Amino acid sequence: MDFVPVNEPLLNGNEKKYLCECIDTGWISSEGPFVKAFEQKMSVTVDRKYGIAVSNGTAALEVAMQALGIGEGDEVIMPAFTIISCAMAVTKLGAIPVLVDSDLHTWNMNVDEVEAKITPKTKAIMIVHIYGLPVEVDGVLALAKKYGLKVIEDAAEMHGQTYRGKPCGSFGDISTFSFYPNKHITTGEGGMVVTDDEELAERCRMLRNLCFRKDVRYVHDEISDNYRFTNLQAAVGLAQLERLDEFVERKRAMGKYYTEQLKDIVGMILPIEKTDYADNIYWVYGIVLDRQIQADNRMIQKLLAEEGIGSRTFFWCMHEQPVYQKQGLFNRESYPNAEYLARKGFYIPSGLALTEEQMERVVTGVRGVMTRI
Ligand SMILES: *Cc1c(COP(=O)(O)O)cnc(C)c1O
Repeated sequence: MDFVPVNEPLLNGNEKKYLCECIDTGWISSEGPFVKAFEQKMSVTVDRKYGIAVSNGTAALEVAMQALGIGEGDEVIMPAFTIISCAMAVTKLGAIPVLVDSDLHTWNMNVDEVEAKITPKTKAIMIVHIYGLPVEVDGVLALAKKYGLKVIEDAAEMHGQTYRGKPCGSFGDISTFSFYPNKHITTGEGGMVVTDDEELAERCRMLRNLCFRKDVRYVHDEISDNYRFTNLQAAVGLAQLERLDEFVERKRAMGKYYTEQLKDIVGMILPIEKTDYADNIYWVYGIVLDRQIQADNRMIQKLLAEEGIGSRTFFWCMHEQPVYQKQGLFNRESYPNAEYLARKGFYIPSGLALTEEQMERVVTGVRGVMTRI
């Protein structure tokens, strides 16, 4: 039987047509017309004035942090449980990530613990929406206002999600997206920074392109990188965005189906369907093993693979990253909820191309594995 991949994107809209247009017109570089069209459409979708497309979601975070002026010795508050892109965007600038433990209910940063982490060196709070439910944004915005802090929102997993009816990607000073193939909207590789601040937007455009000076080309006052995004990527992105509502609906239906089929299995905590501010979008369908279960997520991943089912373990915590431990960062810090999620959480196939037959196989596989352990 075929292996059920953990993710497969759906590319059967206008992707091919728009890509052919790139080839036919010769516009394949970052100067092509689809790039601006995609930036425009994406920023309108998330209720922002400006969109700056970049090479990937990690680059988007780097550009955003640099544009905000984060630098040496500055502290940035962020979740312990996230992808390393978030911490890297901070440490690359010589700034310090200050970590916050997770809420076991939503798997997001526990906003109640943020205020205690604020010091005179704190410059920004990074909101990272994890796996399908948004962070409790209002709490963060209130703290940012009270202490005069910048807010950066990593909405990489939140295409089409809202917080109290307002799109994710519209909160704080600047927000970022990824278009990696496992996100709701993909361009193969790709990312975007969105903001309402014209000056920030202009800085992001500069940072994306080696910080060329505007008056004289090949003269540079600052160092950044080449984070450009191509017309080919934008062609795929435009076609994907046309189907955002349909994709979100599909993901939600998948989430409901899995929950319905898996809820009677003992030993697993399933994602919550909604909070009072959002309905789960199930970027991925995550499962957390109960504390009584001896096995960890790596064991489950192995057993599921034997059943022909792809899965992934959850993120590994920032304070437990060998690279940061070597640098003496997060010395003896502990975030028990984040550590628990990192060891006991995994996600099952939830890509947009997943068929009903594949989902049935996943359910049978998970049931089989859970009875075996
Ligand atoms: C995927 C992801 C990123 C990184 O995006 P890339 O395009 O893979 O670089 C950053 N943050 C979060 C929360 C993500 O899920």
